Amino acid sequence: MKNEYLLLTPGPLSTSESVREAMLKDWCTWDDDYNKEIVEVIRTKLVNLATQQQGYTSVLMQGSGTASVEATIGSAIDKNGKLLVIDNGAYGARIAQIADYLNIPCHVVSPGETSRPNLNKVETALASDPTISHVAIVHCETTTGMLNPIKDVAELAKRHNKTVILDAMSSFGGIPMDIGELDIDFMISSANKCIQGVPGFGFVIAKQSELEKCKGRARSLSLDLYDQWHCMEANHGKWRFTSPTHTVRAFYQALLELEQEGGIEARHQRYQTNQKTLVKGMRSLGFETLLSDDLHSPIITSFYSPTDETYQFKTFYHSLKEKGFVIYPGKVSNADCFRIGNIGEVYPEDIERLIVAIGQSMYWKQAELVA
Ligand SMILES: *Cc1c(COP(=O)(O)O)cnc(C)c1O
Repeated sequence: MKNEYLLLTPGPLSTSESVREAMLKDWCTWDDDYNKEIVEVIRTKLVNLATQQQGYTSVLMQGSGTASVEATIGSAIDKNGKLLVIDNGAYGARIAQIADYLNIPCHVVSPGETSRPNLNKVETALASDPTISHVAIVHCETTTGMLNPIKDVAELAKRHNKTVILDAMSSFGGIPMDIGELDIDFMISSANKCIQGVPGFGFVIAKQSELEKCKGRARSLSLDLYDQWHCMEANHGKWRFTSPTHTVRAFYQALLELEQEGGIEARHQRYQTNQKTLVKGMRSLGFETLLSDDLHSPIITSFYSPTDETYQFKTFYHSLKEKGFVIYPGKVSNADCFRIGNIGEVYPEDIERLIVAIGQSMYWKQAELVA
């Protein structure tokens, strides 16, 4: 089964045929061939991908990535805690929104969607408010494609003895990092981003000592991160409630394919080549990026929409889809943009074909020529 088009979106994304094929069998959730041979192996592999250091463990959680973010926020912060969150896009804003839903006090640092956080402002907030217990930051802010300075922010947070929560949803598996070296306490990602699996669950890689403190803190039964972890630990990979078996099996296959590709380092190289090929090609067609090059990530890139009166995203989108490429609408609030992702089963040759297809789809320029 071949796909009709490539998804140039930040997840769900294009997966390999072999990952999709891995879903063609039904699994029993209490058999060892599922729990011990799939779930437990995944949990160990995830920790090894995230850090070389000891003391980390992992837990898988049903739902889209946001469920894992919500499970972490709702389980890690105790009833006297307070969260500082850096919000320079929709996903940082979502963390603040989760805190609001859960009645967790929250200090929001908002540098705007096209800027990195001002570290002095973060430091001042941390120094002046001792009730802040946790700091949350998004690694790659998928809204714009910006890469946030997680090393600097984690260092600041640690200097003030705060627990650090990292939303690495769209970057884990695609950008090398060691969360132990960064001293991250909780890192969240999901199946359908850079590991190149299909949607259905997220996962949290955490310091075991921090996760153990979460016992009894959760504000939700199904999103109790500690209880989910404890059940997996005590029962060799057993999930508390129905697990997304096919998705999990596909994810296992995706992890093997990440290893075959050469690991995170090699995947990062491919994504980076995709992104550089994309930006070069788009600029040659007259498009401009929302962010300056030094803020780009290899994950996704935002481009300004053409200002020509006849341009409409929908028409452009459908023209590209017919040619085999699905792009993504913009998400920044103060600029008209569209986005193109570089992650998934996508190679530099695909990006080169995309640039040709975009050149052929610039109908607003053709209208200009006719006039
Ligand atoms: C994809 C993503 C999420 C989670 O989104 P879901 O739609 O719930 O899977 C969270 N944070 C970031 C940075 C993301 O890219």
